[in-house]
Formats: sequence, C-alpha cells, structure tokens
Amino acid sequence: IRVTFSPIHRRKDNIAGVIAVLQDVTDQEKLEGARREFVANVSHELRTPLTTIKSYTEALEDGALDERALAERFIGVIRNETQRMIRLVSDLLHLSRLDSSEAMMRKQRTNVLELLEDTIDRFFVQMKQKDIRSSIDMQPEVGSVWIDRDQMDQVLDNLVSNALKYTPDGGSIKLAARCTNDGMLALSVEDTGIGIPKQDLGRIFERFYRVDKARSRNMGGTGLGLSIAREMVRAHDGTIELDSELGQGTTVTVMLPLHEEGEGMS
Ligand code: ADP
Repeated sequence: IRVTFSPIHRRKDNIAGVIAVLQDVTDQEKLEGARREFVANVSHELRTPLTTIKSYTEALEDGALDERALAERFIGVIRNETQRMIRLVSDLLHLSRLDSSEAMMRKQRTNVLELLEDTIDRFFVQMKQKDIRSSIDMQPEVGSVWIDRDQMDQVLDNLVSNALKYTPDGGSIKLAARCTNDGMLALSVEDTGIGIPKQDLGRIFERFYRVDKARSRNMGGTGLGLSIAREMVRAHDGTIELDSELGQGTTVTVMLPLHEEGEGMS
C-alpha cells in the first residue's frame, strides 16, 4: 500500500489538515514484476543460442573448419540455433501484436473438417518421420465455425507441434471436434506422449514455462507456444484447457463459440 499525505492550507503557513491517500499498488507491482521477469526471460532465451553460435564459430576458426565432417556438424548446430532464434523472435512479435490488440481479426465461416484436415496435412512429413499415426474424429453435426482462420491455424499448429514434440516414435495423435449443449465447438488435440506432471499443470500456459527446459530447447521449443494459443483463443471469446496423465498422454481442448453476435449470414 502506498500512502501519500497532502496538507490542506487555510492561509499561508496555517495548515488546517492533511489528506491521506491510501493506494493499493499490489496490482501495479505485480504487473511491473511480470514485465521485468518477461524481459529477463527473453534476454536469457536469446543469449543461450547466441552463446552457442559464438562458441561454434570460434571452434570453426580454431581448426574445426579443416575437418570436413566436424565442420558440417558445427554448421548444422549454428543453423538450428539460428532457426530457433527466428522462431522465438516471430513468436514474440505475435505476442506483442496480440497484447497491443493490433491484431485485426478477420473472421470467416470456416468448415471445421477442412480446418482439421489441413492441419494434419501440414504435419504429414514430420508425422511420417516419427511413425506417428494421426486421425480425425468428427461428430457428424459439426459444420462450420466463425473464426479468424490464420489465428486458428496457428493455435492448431502450436498444439499439434507440441503433440509431435512430446510423443515418442510410434505413438498417435487424434484431432477431434464436437458441439457442446451450450452452443460451443470443442476442438481437441490428443496425444499418447510423455504427459505433464500434475504439479506443472497450473503454470503450463505461462510465457516461457516449460516442464523440462533442456528437452524443450532440444526439440526447438520456444516456451511460448501455449501462451500464444491461449491469447488467440481468448481473442475468440473461447477457452483452452489442458488435461494430462504422466506417461499416458495429453489432451488440449479449445472451446469456441459456434456463432457470433452480428455474424454475417452467409
Ligand atoms: P515449448 O516451445 O517449450 O513446447 P509451449 O508453451 O508450447 O512451449 O509448451 C510449454 C511446455 O508444456 C512444454 O515445454 C512442455 O513441457 C509442456 N507441453 C506442452 N504440450 C505438451 C504435450 N502435448 N505433451 C507433453 N508436454 C507438453
């Protein structure tokens, strides 16, 4: 609590009283703390790949360049780290656009089956490489939904790429869609992966929160995928929930309003 005193003057040098203002600054301080933590996280996340790039470049200068096989491996590391930084910076840009509500929503009627099939198609090669089976489970009455297609593609990409990252070879990923009784569309991404410990579930949507930082980094993760997904779903007046059983798998469910007030009838 911040307390500010201001004297009330009746005449010069004659103080009649004092006004005390008690201000609850808890929220302000929390916000400031969160901002500081975010900047520290971003700096750390950028410094890690930069340090790696620096040391591998030095190793190349110090002689590794003369050994073809070694040089190729080092250059591969540098390329991967660069790609991860590009992903991180573009994730940060996404977040800042969402924060400043600069992101214009361009909603359109979208066929749900097509939305899910296109998502699976984007991951076809990676799924094949990991021998992961995919399936779509659609309730027949699900037709279309009023969404920003680019944003929802991004949400599904983030969820499916997590499912892929955290599911061992030979597993499976299921995309499902159903209508709920209260006029919502439930989209879910279910995997048979490593799962998330119960104690981490509460914080999993926080920016940069990861169960296993090293593992996430090795997989090319930025720690921002779920928080971006949540922001985008919120912008659609929807909700996102994650359910997980350690060693069994994870299901993420996105609830979206099927119709929107003022929606163009077409
Ligand atoms: P990252 O880029 O690290 O994957 P996310 O924000 O997408 O960042 O996810 C945060 C963390 O949640 C991940 O680091 C991982 O620990 C956990 N996680 C997310 N999705 C899954 C999943 N399908 N299975 C297991 N763990 C997951």
